[in-house]
Amino acid sequence: MPRCPICSATVKLTALTTPPFCSERCRVIDLGRWLDEAYAVPEIRRGDDDEGDGEGAIPPELLRGDADEG
Ligand SMILES: [Zn+2]
Repeated sequence: MPRCPICSATVKLTALTTPPFCSERCRVIDLGRWLDEAYAVPEIRRGDDDEGDGEGAIPPELLRGDADEG
């Protein structure tokens, strides 16, 4: 017998069940959790490893500007 991932009750497959949940209620709870996670996606990964040779960085000659001795 499958078990409900929400309340761990044994899921009896009847016309009223909504597999893999034991009931509509548990299905809604799971949906709510899923949405919570979807909204709480905190990690935006920035590829630190990929940065290196300064693609898109400001070229040194521009940084120096007209500070050259002249
Ligand atoms: Zn349940």
